[in-house]
Amino acid sequence: MNLGDLFSQLQVVPKWLWGFFAFAYGAIIGSFNNVLIYRLPREMSIVFPPSHCPVCKRKLKPWHNIPIVSYIILRGRCYYCKAPIPIRYLIVEVLTALSFLFCFLKFGFSLDTLRWMAFFGIAIPITFIDWEWQIIPDELNIALGIVGLIFATLYSVLSSSLTPLLEALLTAFLFSGLFISIYFIGKLIFKKEALGLGDVKLAFALGLFLAKPHLVFLTTFISFTVGAIYGISAYLIKNMLKPRFKVDIPVERWSLGLLAIPLFGGILREFLIYEEDVRHSFYLAFGPFMLLGALLAGLYGDTIIKWYLDNILGLYPY
Ligand SMILES: [Zn+2]
Repeated sequence: MNLGDLFSQLQVVPKWLWGFFAFAYGAIIGSFNNVLIYRLPREMSIVFPPSHCPVCKRKLKPWHNIPIVSYIILRGRCYYCKAPIPIRYLIVEVLTALSFLFCFLKFGFSLDTLRWMAFFGIAIPITFIDWEWQIIPDELNIALGIVGLIFATLYSVLSSSLTPLLEALLTAFLFSGLFISIYFIGKLIFKKEALGLGDVKLAFALGLFLAKPHLVFLTTFISFTVGAIYGISAYLIKNMLKPRFKVDIPVERWSLGLLAIPLFGGILREFLIYEEDVRHSFYLAFGPFMLLGALLAGLYGDTIIKWYLDNILGLYPY
């Protein structure tokens, strides 16, 4: 039986029910993601001890652990000591569940559904951990890289061609090569890390996952542009709220990335303010922006590139 037959047999079950399965599966993975988000940056084991309340230390009963549902039933508090459970737990579960539903709705019965579910399942804990701790645990980068390799191998086997696998490797080396250059140029010019090494490793893993060399530039473009816009807005808002509290923009990172931007680079660069005496007071994690770039480039990259060639450069050949 080939994959097409398998996928057509799956359609015996109505689509809305599959959608519900996708959502529920995402909620379960989201629940596990909460464990990763709490334990990985604290270098705790992810299996021991079993789930417990961090305040009163009592072990949770199975019905305290039902994704999304338990949080609502318990009204966001520990069953025993009534300590509040951070809203992040609910957000991560709902976000993962919705992203899995999205994958199913977008790709239906195909390998791409599983591939993008794996992406969201790993991207969400990376985002929350990097945002809070400014680190990306190696375990998650490795997991993403392995997912990329597995699917590249699968596509190679299914198409009896080495191309998908070679493209995955090429993308990984291109992407991480670009980032390691930015890393060293930043050290050379600004005597400071413009990117973390975790970002370079993430670039390698994302390359294996994207497996499309022509998307490296677009992914980088989106990451730095959205990151710069976010950084500038955060700077302006914080300065407006607290005029005397000066915030530093990690300008070396954004400006180096902006070198890669032909369209807005010069303009955005003008907005970035560099002040020697307030360094290190404001740090933006970059991983989430890389993941967003990879997500948009991976899902809509070819449409975006075609639109750009067609409308901006007028080059698209018909
Ligand atoms: Zn408790």
